[in-house]
Amino acid sequence: MPKYIPEPFRIKMMEPIRLIDRAARQRALQEAGYNVFGLRSEDVYIDLMTDSGTGAMSQEQWAAMMTGDEAYAGSRSYYRLKAAMDEIFGFKHFVPTHQGRAAENILCAVLLQPGQAVPSNMHFDTTEGNIRARGGLPNNLVSQIAYDPLAHADFKGNMDLEALEAWIQATGVENIPFGMITITNNAGGGQPVSMANLRGVSEIYRKYQIPFFIDACRFAENAYFIKLREPGYADKSPLQIAQEMFSLADGATMSAKKDGMVNIGGFLALNDGALFERVKAELILREGFPTYGGLAGRDLDALATGFYEALQEDYLAYRLSQSEYLCARLREAGVPIIEPPGAHAVYLNAADLLSHLSREELPGQALSIAMYLEGGIRAVELGTVAFGQLKDGQWDFPALEVVRMAIPRRTYTQSHLDYVADTLAEIKANAKQIKSVKMTYAPELLRHFTAQFEIGT
Ligand SMILES: *Cc1c(COP(=O)(O)O)cnc(C)c1O
Repeated sequence: MPKYIPEPFRIKMMEPIRLIDRAARQRALQEAGYNVFGLRSEDVYIDLMTDSGTGAMSQEQWAAMMTGDEAYAGSRSYYRLKAAMDEIFGFKHFVPTHQGRAAENILCAVLLQPGQAVPSNMHFDTTEGNIRARGGLPNNLVSQIAYDPLAHADFKGNMDLEALEAWIQATGVENIPFGMITITNNAGGGQPVSMANLRGVSEIYRKYQIPFFIDACRFAENAYFIKLREPGYADKSPLQIAQEMFSLADGATMSAKKDGMVNIGGFLALNDGALFERVKAELILREGFPTYGGLAGRDLDALATGFYEALQEDYLAYRLSQSEYLCARLREAGVPIIEPPGAHAVYLNAADLLSHLSREELPGQALSIAMYLEGGIRAVELGTVAFGQLKDGQWDFPALEVVRMAIPRRTYTQSHLDYVADTLAEIKANAKQIKSVKMTYAPELLRHFTAQFEIGT
């Protein structure tokens, strides 16, 4: 059993949570149409729906918020954020945005023409959506090993460099307005990307003069994986590693709701001065003036402080130990998971755990329902309901039938994770009793957020 590193903080302000009784959980599920997105958060005991904007801020962040300068233009808060951005990311220009997808929208608005294609290891769904919304084509070129749920590798988020170069030549440079890579690879289980791979990607993009943007949502976790796993980095600080990562790119988008340690925020950063003029024009139209970009001054201060906290080694060691510990407890109980764990989430292999159900019977959705019913735990189906294609009542199934348990930052303790592991062990012991699920309503797009279900017999 890997060591659970004690939380490098103590709790000064608490938020009560409560486990409502089973009959109430049953009623809540019914009212939500058996979709956990429809539950009230008050009725959830342990909420592992997402790590986005759900973490706890520190006393330093709350204190910084009190010093926020709410001036419309040129606020102190902006300059404090700029100092942090300059040191950590090192791009010549940046604008704050209200969250990650706003940065993606602006990047696509200024660079992408209909019919053009954008490569990445794996695009996150909002990135994919923003590229498609402007008539573009997102392309995923992650190494094949990313698709094997049991294969262990240090950097399963790496781009397939040969495939990338072949794809660029086949697509034509004129059809590629920019290239990306996501660190860590959220859509692929939160797997990290190595520095060597980032350097390789950078060399290829530069060779073809394709601007290189990093989706930096979990840059600190990625930096720490590099420190632990890549030769030559053991003695470097996460900050030094982050600086090296970003020196390889021409810009970055980020949802600061992840490794910015804030509840809301993001940015778009870049080196190209002419492009930055167009970015500012678009930002002013959609988000706000370039020194606040859709955020309050106090949000900028919380973020400037949060970036440095995300890079602290004791925090990162504890953060990674949480997901490793939860995975180890689940392995011990024989609960099937996707290997190896990333930092921000643990993925359950629902098709294996509920092997008495066929894919048509939606085992992922059935598991997310069972987790709430048995333990008041909320986790998200990322299988057939989220990604399956439905044509004339026939499913085209995605490769994996998983349920994601994302771990909010600095929020839950070891005993909470023990409770989650114990609940899943119970579910496994009585797995055969878990019934099939039928989808009774589904919207056209982003089905899993609002679909409705019935329990089978
Ligand atoms: C969360 C996320 C985004 C989108 O950010 P929002 O703040 O939710 O708009 C983009 N990319 C990755 C990898 C993410 O995890």
